[in-house]
Amino acid sequence: MNPLSQIVRAARPIYRTFSTSVSSASQAKEIPSTGLCFELSDEQKALQELARKFTREEITPVAAQYDKSGEYPWPIVKKAWELGLMNGHIPEHCGGVGNLGVFEECLIGEEFSFGCTGIGTAVGGTNLGQTPVIIAGNKEQQKKYLGRLIDEPLVAAYCVTEPGAGSDVAGVKTKAVKKGDEWIINGQKMWITNGGVANWYFVLARTNPDPKCPASKAFTGFIVERDWPGVNPGRKELNMGQRASDTRGISFEDVRVPKENVLLGEGDGFKIAMGAFDKTRPPVAAGATGLAARALYEATKYSLERKTFGVPIAAHQAVAFMIADMAIGVESARLAWQRAAWMVDHGQRNTLMASIAKCHASEIANKAASDAVQIFGGNGFNTEYPVEKLMRDAKIYQIYEGTSQIQRLIISREILTAAKQSNA
Ligand SMILES: Cc1cc2nc3c(=O)[nH]c(=O)nc-3n(C[C@H](O)[C@H](O)[C@H](O)COP(=O)(O)OP(=O)(O)OC[C@H]3O[C@@H](n4cnc5c(N)ncnc54)[C@H](O)[C@@H]3O)c2cc1C
Repeated sequence: MNPLSQIVRAARPIYRTFSTSVSSASQAKEIPSTGLCFELSDEQKALQELARKFTREEITPVAAQYDKSGEYPWPIVKKAWELGLMNGHIPEHCGGVGNLGVFEECLIGEEFSFGCTGIGTAVGGTNLGQTPVIIAGNKEQQKKYLGRLIDEPLVAAYCVTEPGAGSDVAGVKTKAVKKGDEWIINGQKMWITNGGVANWYFVLARTNPDPKCPASKAFTGFIVERDWPGVNPGRKELNMGQRASDTRGISFEDVRVPKENVLLGEGDGFKIAMGAFDKTRPPVAAGATGLAARALYEATKYSLERKTFGVPIAAHQAVAFMIADMAIGVESARLAWQRAAWMVDHGQRNTLMASIAKCHASEIANKAASDAVQIFGGNGFNTEYPVEKLMRDAKIYQIYEGTSQIQRLIISREILTAAKQSNA
C-alpha cells in the first residue's frame, strides 16, 4: 500500500460520497460541520508533509535542469505516481483510493509548485484531462480510462483550445460526424498541456453544424486515445516558462471514435468542458500560491543576507514592505483556493469562488515574482539565481484555464446575476 493509501484509509470514516448535478458519477465528500476551522486534519497534515518532503527531495534539486532542457519529467511523474501523490481522486471502483477531494489535490499542488510550477503542471495537468471523465463518465468509461492511470504511471490531457478559439470556446471548429456506431473527428487543437505525453485525451468537438444551435447543445465531449490512427501531436512548444510541461498542438484527421467514448450524451460537451473548471481552477490557484510562497521565501532569505549602506537590505523599509505585500498576497491567495476547493468538495456551487481564487492567485504570483526579482537586484535578472524563473513561470497563470479577463467576466456575471435575482 503506498503512503497516500495509508493516509486515506485512516481518514475514510469522515468521508462520504454523493452526486452533483453534472453526473451521478460525480464525487464529493462531506465532513461533519464543526463551524469554521482553519486547522488541517491530521490526515491532511500528513499528506502535506509527504508532498513537501517529495518536493524538497525530488523536485527542487532538478527544477533548473528541467527548465533548461524542457524535457518532460517522467522520472518525477513515476515517483509521484508510486507514492500515490497523483490520482487521489480516482474512484475506488476504478482501483483508486477514492474520496480525496479537490482540497487535498490543492494541498499537494501548492507544495509541488513551491519547488517548480513547470513540474507541478506536468504532474497536475493530467487532472484537467481526467476531470471530464470524473464528472461525466459512466462506470465503464471511468473503469477503463481512469483505471488505466491507476494501473500504470500514465497521464491524460484536455483538448479544447484551438488556434482560432481559446477564450471563446463556442468558436471551436473541430467537428465530429456520426457514421454508424462511430464518430469521425477532424480538426486542430492548440496549447494542449501533456499533448505529446498523454495516453488519452478529452476532446471537445462540434457535433451540430447549425450556426444557430446554442453552444450548450452544439458540442460533444469524447475520450480519444493517443494511439488511434489520425491523432497527431505536433512539436513541443517553446514557452516562456513552465518549460518542463509539455504543450503541443494536436491534429485529428478522420479519427474514428466508438460511440461508447461519448461522455454523457450528444450535445453535452460544452457543459462538461466548462463544468470541469469548478474542480480544476482551485488547483491552478494553489499552484500560483505555491509560486508566490517560493518568491516570498527566496526574497526574505536574500534580504537578510544582502547588505547595502552597511545594513541588510531587509532593514530598508522599501524592501521590507515588498516582503509584507508578498505575505499579504500569499495568505489571501491560499485562503481563496481553500474556500473554492472546500466548496466544491462539499457539493456547493463554487464557480464564483473558483474564478476569484484563480484570478487572485495568478496576479499575486506575478506580483510576488516580479518583486522578488526586484529585491534580488541585478542578481534577480540572472539565471544563476532562482527568481527569474519564477517570473517567467508565473505569467501563464494569468492565461491558461481562462485568462484573468475571462475570470473577471465570470465573476462580474455571477455577481450581477445574483443581484438581479435578489431584486426580482
Ligand atoms: C502553456 C499553455 C497551456 C495550455 N493548456 C491548455 C490545455 O491543456 N487545454 C486547453 O484546451 N487549452 C490550454 N491552453 C489554452 C489556454 O486556455 C488559452 O490560451 C486561453 O484560454 C486564452 O485563449 P487564447 O490564447 O486563444 O487567447 P484569446 O482568447 O485570443 O485572448 C486574447 C486576449 O484577449 C482577451 N479577451 C478575449 N476575449 C475577451 C473578452 N470577452 N473580454 C475581455 N477580454 C477578452 C484575453 O483575456 C487575452 O488577453 C493552454 C495555453 C498555454 C499557453
